[in-house]
Amino acid sequence: MEAPLRWSMGVEHGTTRTIVELHTDAGLVGLGETYGGASTAARFRSAEPFFIGYDPLEVSRIVKNFEVFRTTSEQSALTIELRYVAAAIEMACWDIIGKIQNKRVCDLWGGADSELVPFIAYLFYRYESLNKKKGGENGPEAICDQYEDHVRRFGFTGLKLKTGVLHPAIERATIKRLRETFGSQIEQLRVDPNQVWSTATAINELKRLAEYDIEYCEDPTYNLEGMSRIRATVPVPLATNMAVLNFDQVAPMLRMRALDTILVDPYFWGGITQCKKLAAVAETFGFSLAIHSDRELGIGMTASLHLWATTPSLCHKYDSHYAFQEDDIITKPLQWHKGSVALPTGPGLGVEIDSEKLEKYHRLYLEKGDEIEFFDFKRPGWIPHVPIW
Ligand SMILES: [Mg+2]
Repeated sequence: MEAPLRWSMGVEHGTTRTIVELHTDAGLVGLGETYGGASTAARFRSAEPFFIGYDPLEVSRIVKNFEVFRTTSEQSALTIELRYVAAAIEMACWDIIGKIQNKRVCDLWGGADSELVPFIAYLFYRYESLNKKKGGENGPEAICDQYEDHVRRFGFTGLKLKTGVLHPAIERATIKRLRETFGSQIEQLRVDPNQVWSTATAINELKRLAEYDIEYCEDPTYNLEGMSRIRATVPVPLATNMAVLNFDQVAPMLRMRALDTILVDPYFWGGITQCKKLAAVAETFGFSLAIHSDRELGIGMTASLHLWATTPSLCHKYDSHYAFQEDDIITKPLQWHKGSVALPTGPGLGVEIDSEKLEKYHRLYLEKGDEIEFFDFKRPGWIPHVPIW
């Protein structure tokens, strides 16, 4: 990151991702990316019977093999990390299929509704970078400057603000200042306290924030019961990428009328096919989808661009940390033009690995280990007990 990003439960300095090159006996290579580092990478060996020896064209069979773990409600490291493995292997299979067919992944999935994927700015309160040239935003004025900078550089016309970091009154003042400064130029305005508001705080805050035309609030509090009571009380739609992470949790979400939107995450949900299945459930039950962003690199981001462009219930603009990430491991990092990223034109996912960069960041990983975002180096000993506010 160009400067440490603050979120409600800690600080994000960088990202740890596992990159996959899936080789076929015919000499083709498919690329995949997933969440996590050495621990996730070790799970690939355990999962070999699910994909070694299969034809990538049998991707549905491979996906079904990984689904064996969906029959258990166990949420162990093994079952969670196997979902991350499934996501990367499936992604790499689609990349290979596209290369075999000379088609883009989005075309294999029925064709893109749009060649451009629209993004909004993703704003953060930040600590200063080590050289003190970036970051340091800690209040309304600085966040307005950050938004202005992202609009100028990337052409965004909306924003999400990571909240739950500072006292709610300061964050409310930030939203107010953004609206007063930029008015209707901000077409979408989201907030995301990542579950650290109490139900009462969330009700109080969202009642007041409603006048600033909030598209949705992500994870205002930490469970479905609380969100259900908030949603019954405030005129702001609610979304989650924390409280609903598998199909079993969708039914209680609907019965409790707790949420309007799920942010799909191909890694948490175990692959693109699972996201497409969730899209069918969303169409059936009348909720919408957005994409969850968590410091992906270019391979994973591109897979999600193909997903966004081919999935009508993914109707909310994309938000991403990518604008703050200083580098990538693909040869042509994603670029925004007027707030949108164009789908790649090459077959498969349409991206290639920059092997020097991959090697460079692999060495960095061996030196530094996993990026852990649940700590705050400025507040040693601070542990984010929920609710914080
Ligand atoms: Mg979120």
